[in-house]
Amino acid sequence: MSKKLKITSIDIYKSDIELKEPFKIAIMEISASQSVFIKINTNEGLYGFGEANPFWGITGETQAINLAGAAELAKLLLHKNPLNIEKMMREIDGFLVHNSTLRSAFDMALYDLLGKTAELPLYALLGGEKRTFWTDNTIGIGDPDYVAQKAVQYKNQGFQAIKVKLGTTNEMDIKRIRKVREAIGDDLPIRVDANQGWNYKTAVEVLNALEPMGVEYCEQPIAYWDYENLRRIRQNTSIAIMADESLFDHYDAFKLASMGCCDYFNIKLAKSGGIHTALKINAIAEGAGIICMVGCMMETRLGLTAAAHIVSARFNIKFADLDGYLMLKEDPIIGGAQYNIGKIDLPDTPGHGADVDPAFLKRCQCITIK
Ligand code: MG
Repeated sequence: MSKKLKITSIDIYKSDIELKEPFKIAIMEISASQSVFIKINTNEGLYGFGEANPFWGITGETQAINLAGAAELAKLLLHKNPLNIEKMMREIDGFLVHNSTLRSAFDMALYDLLGKTAELPLYALLGGEKRTFWTDNTIGIGDPDYVAQKAVQYKNQGFQAIKVKLGTTNEMDIKRIRKVREAIGDDLPIRVDANQGWNYKTAVEVLNALEPMGVEYCEQPIAYWDYENLRRIRQNTSIAIMADESLFDHYDAFKLASMGCCDYFNIKLAKSGGIHTALKINAIAEGAGIICMVGCMMETRLGLTAAAHIVSARFNIKFADLDGYLMLKEDPIIGGAQYNIGKIDLPDTPGHGADVDPAFLKRCQCITIK
């Protein structure tokens, strides 16, 4: 039956959800989660849902760009078989080569459809098992005392790891981590993320100062394009280095691994263009002895659920930073991954198992391509 599955229409929704408080990183600041939801409808009544949550400073996409791009991509896919994901993603990735977040929404919806057709939850469709795992919780850039107070709050709630955004000045960044470590004691790991905010010299100075403070790893210390200095930073600190903005797809993964730039990869569907390429990145990482984390932008639980399936499906993915939804004022998702503090439990429903509440969708602007 599903051999004749065809895409009949695609709904594109503009979703705006306020954050509990503004979130600042070294390269940008946001106060709302501005997603685009993609619903791919078929002739057999099955549909797939995907989410694009653009961070313009990282991928060059905004909600408006993605709404316009989604209509173009949707026209490309109409009347085609959604289950041939290799072929579909080749077309999608070749059509809008730089809009990785938008491409990931289509990829996510296609995998949702594949899982529903196979009647398997996504982690099982990918050949994995259901593993319960923990996400850390992230604190944006702020005054060191405020950051330390948030860290205590997260520790008291039961989170197992705290991630702190850095990338400002030597003095302030070192002070932030010193205060956090003093405030939470020695039992929780601290992860730091400079979001490209340092240069080579600052990175080495700050990381050397942080070495005695129990920092598990540092994400993206310098500009995304500077692979050579990323490699040099890694050689000059004992803190593990994780590539984030330097790593979008499997081509980046191969270069970073070949050059010995980092210990870890931060895979995000919003950068890889979805699950299809995320798995390729993880395979390259595994071959190179690089451990992966799966991270996020500011998605709802729908995008995070898709990402959580990948974590569950692959042993080489050992870290999760899937905390975006914890920062939103509203949760419009039905089903999907359930969060118990930072502990994430996946659903067994076919596909990724997350749906957007129809009442919420009624409030969203929608265009349908058919
Ligand atoms: Mg990061």
